[in-house]
Amino acid sequence: MVRPKTEEEIALMRENAILVSKTLAEVGKVVAPGVTTLELNRVAETYIRDHGAIPSFLGYEGFPAALCISVNDVVVHGFPSDYVLKEGDIVSVDCGTLYKGYNGDSAYTFPVGEVDAETRKLLDVTKESLYRGIEKAVDGNRIGDIGHAVQSYAESFGFSVVRELEGHGIGRQMHENPGVPNYGRPGKGPKLVSGMTICIEPMINAGVRNVYLAKNGWAVHTADHRKSAHFELTVVVRKGVPEVLSTFDFIEKPDVEF
Ligand code: MG
Ligand code: MG
Repeated sequence: MVRPKTEEEIALMRENAILVSKTLAEVGKVVAPGVTTLELNRVAETYIRDHGAIPSFLGYEGFPAALCISVNDVVVHGFPSDYVLKEGDIVSVDCGTLYKGYNGDSAYTFPVGEVDAETRKLLDVTKESLYRGIEKAVDGNRIGDIGHAVQSYAESFGFSVVRELEGHGIGRQMHENPGVPNYGRPGKGPKLVSGMTICIEPMINAGVRNVYLAKNGWAVHTADHRKSAHFELTVVVRKGVPEVLSTFDFIEKPDVEF
């Protein structure tokens, strides 16, 4: 049984989600051809610590960095490295923070310079599939409603949904129940209850849905080495309309005061 969060807990998670969202925006400002992924990690870790939080991925089951940075055919869980980003790449940046005892977790896939039209479509469709999933995160629905919304949207463009990895509940632990798959059947799976906090994170491949694990035991690659995109937001299940705690507005609307 999943315990819904209290409003006091949600208030702390809201603060944290904003910090994660701003961290992703700070990283986005430096994404460009010629920059290493280690530099992105450095920007994020500095920003997180400067704001009194802890980068929760660092040391998580031995993960070596503050960010998961996954370029092109890497779906998720890539290590920051001395790889130099180049024009036309896409880079998924996944960020987790621990703040006042609660976890925040969001991800955004940035284009590096100009990307080709199919890649742009993959980014747009993956992000929109996340929003389609979020719409279903309302009291009385079931987990399968979310996955079905993500899957049916992404597949309608000929893209494919990674099955081996999924979203999750979040709170004092980074990964709590329930699991939130990006595929599913309407009306199936655990029931959604007001106050549940979940991360929805579609991982959508341009080609086949199959993936494999790199020899380092972390990085997940597409089997056909075509590109994969990943977007993640943290959401509170509510009656009628879900509350989205994290946001891409700091990335996409940098001129707006929030
Ligand atoms: Mg994440
Ligand atoms: Mg997550």
